[in-house]
Amino acid sequence: MKSVKKFSFIVSFLVLLALLTLAPAAVSGAQEADRVYINGVVYTVDKDFITASAFAVKDGKFVYVGDDSGAQAFIGPLTYVFDLEGKTVIPGLHDAHVHIRYGERELYPRIPDIRPGIGEWASVERMQEVIKRCLATGEGMRPGPEPRWLVLSGWMSDVWDPPVFRKELIDAVAPDNPVFISRYTHGSGANSKALELAGITRETPDPPGGHIKKDQNGEPTGEFVERAPSQLTRLIPPLPPMTDYERSRNLVEGTQLAIASGLTTIHGASMTGYEEVQRRIKLYDVGLLRIRINEMVREDAAKKLGKPLNHNDKYFIRSVKAFADGALGSRGALFLEEYSDYPGYRGEPRQSEDEIAKSATELLKIGFNMRIHCIGDAANRTAIDAYERALNATGLDGKNARFALEHCQVLTAEDVPRLAELGIVASMQPLHATEDMHFAESRIGPERLKYAYIWSDLLDLGVVVATGTDYSVSPYNPFYTLHAAVTRQDRNNNPPGGWIPEQAMTREEALRAATMGGAYAMFAEDILGSIEIGKLADFVVIPVDYMTIPAEDIWKIGPEMTVIGGEVVYTKPVQAQK
Ligand SMILES: [Zn+2]
Repeated sequence: MKSVKKFSFIVSFLVLLALLTLAPAAVSGAQEADRVYINGVVYTVDKDFITASAFAVKDGKFVYVGDDSGAQAFIGPLTYVFDLEGKTVIPGLHDAHVHIRYGERELYPRIPDIRPGIGEWASVERMQEVIKRCLATGEGMRPGPEPRWLVLSGWMSDVWDPPVFRKELIDAVAPDNPVFISRYTHGSGANSKALELAGITRETPDPPGGHIKKDQNGEPTGEFVERAPSQLTRLIPPLPPMTDYERSRNLVEGTQLAIASGLTTIHGASMTGYEEVQRRIKLYDVGLLRIRINEMVREDAAKKLGKPLNHNDKYFIRSVKAFADGALGSRGALFLEEYSDYPGYRGEPRQSEDEIAKSATELLKIGFNMRIHCIGDAANRTAIDAYERALNATGLDGKNARFALEHCQVLTAEDVPRLAELGIVASMQPLHATEDMHFAESRIGPERLKYAYIWSDLLDLGVVVATGTDYSVSPYNPFYTLHAAVTRQDRNNNPPGGWIPEQAMTREEALRAATMGGAYAMFAEDILGSIEIGKLADFVVIPVDYMTIPAEDIWKIGPEMTVIGGEVVYTKPVQAQK
């Protein structure tokens, strides 16, 4: 066996030499592939969206894509031929924005979440039940003297009646213990006991980067927009830091689940630091991490690295994550005009245009770009203006910089065309539209909504849209994303006809945004994102035809097989017969 391997190594070395020395026309001769897949419906997602029935993989790359008869030439004595039996194959899916460090939320929860599941909403009754349970069992209770703190996450009051968070809703079940509960995205809330211990009253001014919501009588409601007051948060005993083992376990197990859902590349949006980068490289080197990760790091980590990283085409770093504002649901998103449902308030800025322009310019000079969280129209404008200044300062064109707007939720009419002009990537989350539809119009009104979640308009302008989920804000399942992108509906088919359906993507656009969109955003469109000769063999086998099944069923698709670099990294478990 060993000598065969050695021999094939020598052969491939000779072939490589031949490739290097011969004219391209002489290279077209067939070569024996490791695996040949035939009899499928293969959506290649190449430039013309061509459908093939077969492909061949050798040394982790596609060496042939076409029809079954053409594949025969790649079958040698050692080739494994895989009959797809009419099943569909799509390129490996990307999630262009995910918080992998929270991979532990589902697996080993450290903070109880009141949601029945990620992407589902908890009622007031459910929230109260979870609080009662935690007080009785000690789950979620922090160590320390009585009265002990209970810390939870996951509320979303916009589906409540009335749609308002109030401390009294928690007081009713937790009068004696301080309770702090973060929203499902940015923002948080607390009960009366917590406010009392922190000394927060009607006179307390807003903290830096945050806002204490008060009712019409000036009484704090218990809700905090963006950053909660530090006089409260510093009273909460912290969780013990995670051990190195726990972090590694969460990352490895969390990414295995992502692979099982059809993801082959994820873009980490958690501002990863230098030490964590080094730990992840080690996990790759010992073979524990199998998914490809494109990491958005902290600015200091990028500067310490000194230049972009590509570790064996598995681990990529070329972007710095930053924030220009908060979230829409919590009213932390920054707008040019006041909130329609909260007069006198425009949201919370996080970084100024000058700060972003300075960072972006310095980073471009060492080969990195920026991907900035921008939800409100003012935040998006701040980042676009700053990006433009950095391009002017360095003389680079937009395509070489590929700055991104993470979320890119609400734009203005005048800023929309600037994305195309400046080559800015729109990194958007279709599930956010089908979650935010419960409150977006009341927050910003019908006029601003015309330039919100405008996937279709951006695509028509030629802007590259890369889709993702912002897990654990939304579920990471990429078929949920494809479904929301195509239908603009939730998974109960609501609203009928879709929410602002003219901004839906076609199935082809949605699949492209979930594959080539992500690959482009990470400067890897030459090696990832489609099933084309020469690219790394990342693909997913699904049992139904994504292009023709009823749109309402797209979210139900589950992979039968996920392949990364030619290696089968997931197969659907077979149900044993009883
Ligand atoms: Zn995020």
